[in-house]
This record gives sequence, C-alpha cells and structure tokens, in this order.
Amino acid sequence: MQSKSFRGILQNFMMMMEGFPNTLGPDCDSALEEPCLFLNIGRITADYYANLKDEIEGNSEKYTLFDSKDVEMQNVHNVEKRTPVGTVIVYHVYAKKGYMSWDEEELVRIDILIKMLFVFNGRTKLQLANYRLSFYDPDMEVYNLKYFFKTLSEVIRHGEINEYAALYINLRHFSAVNLQLGRSLGNVVMRRYIGYINDMFTGNEHIARIGGDNFAILVKQSNLENVLEALAGTAITYDDKTHDRILVSASAGVYIITDTIPVHSPTEIMDRISVAIAIAKRNNHNAQENFAFFDTAMMKENERVLRISSLFPSAIENEEFIVYYQPKVSVDECRLVGAEALCRWEHDGRLISPAEFIPVLERGIDICKLDFYMLDHVCRDIRRWLDEGRSVVKVSVNLSRRHLSDMDLLQHIVEIVDRNNVPHEYIEVELTETTTDVEFKDLKRVISGLQEVGIATSVDDFGIGYSSLTLIKDITWNVLKVDRSFLPEHGENYDTKKEVMLRYVVGMAQGMGLECVAEGVETLEQIKLLMDCKCDIVQGFYFDRPMPVDEFVTRLDNYKYEIK
Ligand code: C2E
Ligand code: MG
Ligand code: MG
Repeated sequence: MQSKSFRGILQNFMMMMEGFPNTLGPDCDSALEEPCLFLNIGRITADYYANLKDEIEGNSEKYTLFDSKDVEMQNVHNVEKRTPVGTVIVYHVYAKKGYMSWDEEELVRIDILIKMLFVFNGRTKLQLANYRLSFYDPDMEVYNLKYFFKTLSEVIRHGEINEYAALYINLRHFSAVNLQLGRSLGNVVMRRYIGYINDMFTGNEHIARIGGDNFAILVKQSNLENVLEALAGTAITYDDKTHDRILVSASAGVYIITDTIPVHSPTEIMDRISVAIAIAKRNNHNAQENFAFFDTAMMKENERVLRISSLFPSAIENEEFIVYYQPKVSVDECRLVGAEALCRWEHDGRLISPAEFIPVLERGIDICKLDFYMLDHVCRDIRRWLDEGRSVVKVSVNLSRRHLSDMDLLQHIVEIVDRNNVPHEYIEVELTETTTDVEFKDLKRVISGLQEVGIATSVDDFGIGYSSLTLIKDITWNVLKVDRSFLPEHGENYDTKKEVMLRYVVGMAQGMGLECVAEGVETLEQIKLLMDCKCDIVQGFYFDRPMPVDEFVTRLDNYKYEIK
C-alpha cells in the first residue's frame, strides 16, 4: 500500500517540521493531511500535559499533528513520551477504518516517526517557553526590556526609526496607589492602565516593562499625542462590581526621533529617554511638569554629565580638587571666627566651580569620595597650621545628603580626623535640609553621633527648599546658616515679609541656643541689617571671597577686617 519510500516520508516529514508552530500548536485546520496516508495513518493527535497535576486530572492541551480528514478512522496505537523535565506527551495514532493490519515493519516506522515528532515537539515547546521567559513580563502581561531592545534593533535596521517616538515612563505616586488599594489591587490597576495604553497602539507599536512602575514605549509619532493624553491622566476602574475608579498618570521622558540627532543603536535611544525622564521627574517635583522632551541641549548636558563622571576617578587620584577657604567673620569684633571649606576643580588649566560638578557627582556616590577627600585635606591643613603655631579657627566642610544612608559615616569622619591628629573642636560639618522621613531619621542619627564625638554641625542654606521647624526642634545642631535669599538684594526695594522672616529666624536660632551665621553677605546695608537683628557672624563677599589656602593663612593670625 505504500506510495512513497521511507526516505520520502522522512523528507516530507522534515518539510512539515519547518512550519514549526504547527508541530505542536493547538488544534488547527492547518494540520498536515497528505503525508500520513502512505503509512496508512489517518491521524496523529497529541495530548500535552504541562505538569503532574494536569496529568492526574486529565487536563491536557490538545494538538492535531496529521489529519487526513475525509477518512473514517479509529484509534489503534497510543504512545506516551515523558520529557526530561517531567512533562508528558501522549500520541494517539489513528488508522483508516478497516485497516488494522500494520505489519511489524510499519509499526517500527510509526514508532520512529513518533520519536522524531517527540524530539521536534519537545524542542518547540522549549523554544516557546524560552521565548516567553526571555521576552515577557508575566506579572504585567507585557513584554520586557529585552524585547524592547530587540524591537528597537529591528526598527533601526529597517530604517524606520525616524517615524517613531520613544518614551520612558514612570507611574506617578504609584506607591500611594498600592498603599490605598493594597498591592494586589494595585497590580490590577497597573495592568489595566498599561493594557489601556496598549489598546491605543496601531501596527508596530510597543510597551515594555523596565521594572517596578517604569515602562518603555515605542510609538509612531502620529499616535504620540493620544498616548501622552493617556499618560497625563486616565481613570482606571479597579472594582468591576462597584465601578470604583482611580486616576493614574505618568511622568515621561519623550524622545521624538528625527535625523537631526542620528540614532545608531537601541542603547542610544534608552540613554536619551533616561536623561529625559530624569529631567521630567525633577521638573515634576518643582513645577508640576509631567513630560520632558529630549533635545540637543539635553544631549549636550548628558555628554557633560558623562564626561564629568568619567573624569572623576583620575581627577581625585591626581588630586585635581583643591580646597578654597571662605572666612566667617564676627561683625562685632571684625575678626575671623571660622571658615568654610569649598571645593574647586583645577582641570586643564581651568578652575571649575562646584555648581558645575557637585550636582553631577551627587547623582551617584562619587560625591561621598569627594567629601571625604575634602575633609582629609582640610585636616591636613589644620594639622600643619597647628604645628606652625597659628591661631587656628574651626573649619566647616560640606557633606552631601548622599552620605546619610551610610551607616558607617560617623566612623569614617572620626577616622579621617583622628588619622590627621586634629582635635575634634576644629571641625564642623554642614548639611542641608532633608525632604523625606527616612532621610530625617538618618539625619538625626548622624547629627547626634557627631555631637557625641564633639564635632559641630550646622544646617546649611536654612530657609530655602522645604524648611521644617521639626528639623531644628528635633535635632540638636550647633549652627544655623541663614540662606542669603532672606537678605535684601542690591538696589532692591526690601520686602518687609523677608525682613520679618529674617528677624524671626535669627531670633529663633539664638533663642534655641544655636549660633547663627548669615551667608552671602555682600553689602554694607546687609551688614547693618544683620547687626540690627543681632546676627553677629557673617560669611560673604563683603569681607572675603573663598580663597586658596596660601591666601587664607594670612587671615589666621589676628587679621583685622574693616566695615566701611
Ligand atoms: P554652600 O555650602 O552654601 O556654600 C556657599 C556658597 O556661597 C559658595 O559657593 C560661596 O562661594 C558662595 N558665596 C559665599 N559668599 C557669597 C556672596 O557674598 N555672594 C554670593 N553670591 N555667593 C557667595 P560655591 O563655592 O560655588 O559652592 C556652591 C555650593 O557647592 C556650596 O554651597 C555647597 O553646597 C557645594 N559645595 C562646595 N564645596 C563642596 C564640597 O566639598 N562638598 C559638597 N558636598 N558640596 C560642596
Ligand atoms: Mg555650605
Ligand atoms: Mg550655604
């Protein structure tokens, strides 16, 4: 009865395997019809049991592998195969009705056929599982970042990337949503919100989860406006019975891809949307602006940031950072009572101001290295001045808030000061105000630790940002540095509110036993006002600008300042 050689069957079979999803895809019409007849097989079906429980309960995924549809058939042969990971495939081989007499040779061939099917089916299953594991986020039912990169590569390769916009989005206040609704309903909200955005897509547009509440989107520029509208705020129903809804919105870093800035790789796109989202989040904090669009200015800024970060290790190694000292002067006696150590970066013959590099270093932990470096250099200077018999004053160093989570910060500071053999009373640490509760607790711990070892502490820039009275009520500082924004500016019609605030802040600090230092004092008018407020210590250009150490030593030995 055989119409083809066995070799022919195998060839045919191999061709069939090329259409791989059908090799073990759910029941479908496209199961192959033709090759079965020559072995007098009417049909082969398979039951796929994903695990033991499914096997016991008889829950299988059903597949049809061959089907010569018009023939009446009966099941004559079942073969069970178990994969190395314990999943089971049961093959059911059907014969044409009335044709029951497969001879031994045919049965051997059928068995070989089943074995081959099993190998291919196993491989296909594995490929599908692998694909899902690699590219899919099962919690959110969306693709993951790896898939996003793969898609970006394909779109770039096809030369179509300039039709698109890429977005990095961060759901706003999602921890509050989780708190309000609980985590599992929170997940439902997130899934539905992402699903809502997904439903807006046409053609080759994608959303992928980066992690947590961060997602990446690739959308056609023509569809961008719709997506931005959804990101600006969408009501999501989280209870289908009560129809309760919650408003979900997202911050977004948006990059409308054009040929002005060429794109060569997915990483470039990711870098650009990451830069934009960082700015969107910052703006959001300050100005309720949810979206930031990547442009050439941002790209230059990004390059600058990368350059500084990459230059930092060698700069600190080569001691390119130098300490400038700015005197703190007692107005009463016109004499030096302290100094603040301020960092300058000498690079390529240029003196770079901290405003240019400190914010960059504060994005990571490089700032901590720099602060310890500064403390170490200040200690070296103080030790030398003491050894030279000079009238040394207390020097304050700035510590970034980045240090606050460092549980060993206190030991680090003490170790540096003690290694240089500097009495603790010559060191003061300046820290700015904090914004979060966690930071507040850390701040409290750090400040009380410093107090215990006799190192003075000051609140820097008091009055700007989110000042809280709790900050000075609950933490025992030594010094309060009043920000210069409370002072009248040159030629300004001094705002009475500002003056009232200045008087109260100074009075409050003194009433609480804190030393009060006014920062950024530039004019005689300001000095007079401060004297009137009984704020005696000032730091500012009026007396001295920050200066290199050689110049500063001339201020140490009974230098007489003048008010004129
Ligand atoms: P800051 O700690 O509030 O330092 C005072 C800043 O005000 C200094 O700017 C100083 O030069 C400037 N200033 C002083 N008097 C006047 C004045 O009369 N008028 C005006 N317009 N400005 C005055 P600088 O040196 O550029 O430092 C800026 C900021 O950079 C510092 O503000 C501080 O937050 C940070 N910084 C500087 N050095 C370090 C450091 O070693 N570590 C850390 N973490 N931050 C540092
Ligand atoms: Mg300071
Ligand atoms: Mg300050």
